[in-house]
Amino acid sequence: MSLIVHKYGGTSMGSTERISNVAKRVAKWARVGHQMVVVPSAMSGETNRLLALAKELAPSTLTDAYSRELDMLAATGEQASSALLAIALQAEGLESVSYAGWQVPIRTNNAYTKARIESIDDKRVRADLAAGRVVIVTGFQGLDESGNITTLGRGGSDTSAVAVAAAMKADECLIYTDVDGVYTTDPRVVPEARRLETVSFEEMLEMASMGSKVLQIRSVEFAGKYKVKLRVLSSFTPWDIDINTEAASGTLITFEEDENMEQAIVSGIAFSRDETKISVLGVPDKPGIAYQILGAVADANIEIDMIIQNISKGGLTDFSFTVNHGDYAKTMDLLKNVVMPKLGAEEVVGDTKICKVSIVGIGMRSHVGVASTMFRVLSEEGINIQMISTSEIKTSVVIDEKYMELAVRALHKAFGLDQAPA
Ligand code: ADP
Ligand code: ASP
Ligand code: MG
Repeated sequence: MSLIVHKYGGTSMGSTERISNVAKRVAKWARVGHQMVVVPSAMSGETNRLLALAKELAPSTLTDAYSRELDMLAATGEQASSALLAIALQAEGLESVSYAGWQVPIRTNNAYTKARIESIDDKRVRADLAAGRVVIVTGFQGLDESGNITTLGRGGSDTSAVAVAAAMKADECLIYTDVDGVYTTDPRVVPEARRLETVSFEEMLEMASMGSKVLQIRSVEFAGKYKVKLRVLSSFTPWDIDINTEAASGTLITFEEDENMEQAIVSGIAFSRDETKISVLGVPDKPGIAYQILGAVADANIEIDMIIQNISKGGLTDFSFTVNHGDYAKTMDLLKNVVMPKLGAEEVVGDTKICKVSIVGIGMRSHVGVASTMFRVLSEEGINIQMISTSEIKTSVVIDEKYMELAVRALHKAFGLDQAPA
């Protein structure tokens, strides 16, 4: 008997018919003797629908009071699908109970709309499992130390599932979604993309952090930290396929490089439309400038991604960095009204029409010239590179968003990702 965590995404939970299919699949696993914890997302479109209602009433996202209510609101989507799944399981003849994040409880910090899980108390869940119940733990939500409901950021149910699996030392965490695994790039953008049988944890971490939304980055971080056995697979196979076939399908995230691993130099291409670029122009070029600009942004709980500082001309320099779309208004406001007057900068300009494209692969460590191939391919397509950032196993560029698909397709082809490795 094993303890297994299943996570079902929004599309997989998208209608009562699909929820009923999920229940049948979970029942299949429970009936062979596994202890089952299931983490569902809200039904597809529900989180967007709820957040759009809030925006209709007030577009501002600048205050904590507003963000608190966004979390109260968005958390209802997952709560509804959890109860529906418990009902569907009961209809299958299984005993089942659902818990909201605060009932478990899943404790988080108080960063509304992007809270981080701090601890999970698994007593209640274990007691139910021991009594033979299937336990539904509501995804995407938690409780801060003052008793407020928090959410974990878009795509956060992945993180709920992996964190529950880590806390409970589950034997495996299966992420069921609307594609049958992790691909060389988003198969919706490049139809030639190939499914990877395995992907190393490090590559998955880079792909997720560079925008592949198949797994939320924090879920991959948890999997790495607690060595959770993690697999991404399809919820759209018939629910009654052979359980062993199902258990071996999709993509396994591996922690060791074994001989069977696909040895491509570049394993995948990630992209993100979620970036915006902000430039502070005409800043006096002296010690402490980066700290004064980026420190203020970080203190406001805004994550900064790529950064460049230009060489100085006449004692002045330009400073550019990227933040998520969701933080754009807040960052612009902070820079224009607080940082710019203090520093005596000339201007703050923003660009929301950019995107980031990244090539990822552990093979890049031992191969030189990979980044230059990337730059050549983009130049042949006439695509201007605005920013570059590299790490050991990835190279990212910021380009105009209108060239995103062109860039991803060209790079996918140039690195031979549409062909099976020899
Ligand atoms: P869920 O609702 O199940 O959490 P998501 O929409 O969050 O599903 O994530 C699955 C989607 O991720 C896929 O439909 C696919 O379009 C997208 N995706 C992006 N990059 C990749 C990739 N490298 N491999 C597979 N899917 C990817
Ligand atoms: N429902 C949330 C979202 O749409 C969380 C998730 O699906 O993982 O972002
Ligand atoms: Mg998701």
